[in-house]
Amino acid sequence: MRRIGIIGAGQAGLLLALGLQQQGYEITVITDRDAPAILGGRVLSNQCVFEPALRHERALGVNFWDDIVPSIGGVAFTSGPITWKTPLDHPAQSVDQRLKMSDWLAEFADLGGEVRLHKVTPDDLESYAREFDLVLVAAGRGPQFDSLFARDDRFSPYSEPQRAISMMYVSGISDRVFPGVDFSLGPEGEYFALPVLTARGPAYGMYFSGIPGGPLDCWDGVTDIDQHFEIAARLLAEFFPWAKEILDHAAPNGPLDHLHGRITPIVRDPIGRLPSGALVLAMGDAAVTNDPIAGQGANLAAHCAAAYQARILEQGDAPFDEAFMRRGFADFWPLARVTTRFSNDLLAPPPPHVLATLETAQSVPAVAHRFAQLFNDPSDYEGWLTDEAESLRYLKSFA
Ligand SMILES: Cc1cc2nc3c(=O)[nH]c(=O)nc-3n(C[C@H](O)[C@H](O)[C@H](O)COP(=O)(O)OP(=O)(O)OC[C@H]3O[C@@H](n4cnc5c(N)ncnc54)[C@H](O)[C@@H]3O)c2cc1C
Repeated sequence: MRRIGIIGAGQAGLLLALGLQQQGYEITVITDRDAPAILGGRVLSNQCVFEPALRHERALGVNFWDDIVPSIGGVAFTSGPITWKTPLDHPAQSVDQRLKMSDWLAEFADLGGEVRLHKVTPDDLESYAREFDLVLVAAGRGPQFDSLFARDDRFSPYSEPQRAISMMYVSGISDRVFPGVDFSLGPEGEYFALPVLTARGPAYGMYFSGIPGGPLDCWDGVTDIDQHFEIAARLLAEFFPWAKEILDHAAPNGPLDHLHGRITPIVRDPIGRLPSGALVLAMGDAAVTNDPIAGQGANLAAHCAAAYQARILEQGDAPFDEAFMRRGFADFWPLARVTTRFSNDLLAPPPPHVLATLETAQSVPAVAHRFAQLFNDPSDYEGWLTDEAESLRYLKSFA
């Protein structure tokens, strides 16, 4: 049986590891933290996973939280006087990645998968390439494997982070808070909140996305949750007062349930060539990193795992050569490309036809519904909101 090494135990690497393990492959996951360290560590993401990506998890039977996770049934949007709410066709869900990944890693090990604890460097990859028939790099975003996976300038319009981001989980939320993705847009940036299942129980993930240098870019130096909570309360009251009810009875969910940082969106060539000539294949954020503004990274990671798994199975005993790697990425890329475009466009000031669409959504539920489904599946974005004439024609059809 073929031996496959996967670097990283996140949404991309573990979903592929669990899927291939079920097919009888001998999988080794090499990762820098074990399950208890993940579970007891700092919060990682807001991880809103929409139904098309959940389908992959359900197909593998690793959707362990379906009966207890709060349902994310809709999308609410507010920007100044514009405000609307619409249901999602199928509920999304957010399971704290600390809980999800620690459970998945434990499941993988319980079923006989090999887990090695090691912080992998690019130099280590040569020995893995000799040991395994295929090496996948699923080690997430960041520059650590920059030397291997070249930036693709055609699809990477930004060379700097476009937002200062921050996130905090709070619990004790009033029942009146919208049980979906509650998204607000202002001149200083964005704020959104959504229900999350954490190891401590249900909570809400509160996310601020500030234009660099603006008043929402204020997180540098924040080190404890109480300070984070205080700043979040001030920002809500000042910039998103319609959403401040969320904190009325809330308290921080845990001391490590906050983060802040900046992410540069980058698309990379997913094939890395080692000095020996051996090839390794990137997946998830290691291949395509987006700013979290559209909440798509974990979704793309799941789609990537599903696409690669299908190609690996199809490959049978044939070598995992460059053509195989290109085919695997090509299956994933159409969705990744449009999702990346959608995410990157959301970071830019919205053009008038997009503002007109958001405004019309307030009075025309079909427009609100169509916009919200973009988060489920961004494929509809191109040819609609990327095309001013088509967008205006669509809006006119409701006049
Ligand atoms: C604040 C925030 C909010 C977000 N909200 C959403 C959202 O609502 N919806 C959504 O879909 N996405 C969201 N995302 C993005 C999403 O979390 C990521 O896109 C997703 O987790 C990527 O999965 P991955 O498996 O590729 O990488 P990761 O989840 O980063 O996993 C990487 C794994 O590799 C391990 N690792 C890293 N370096 C090494 C190394 N050198 N050696 C060995 N192991 C290593 C890590 O420990 C980890 O196990 C958000 C991200 C952030 C930061």
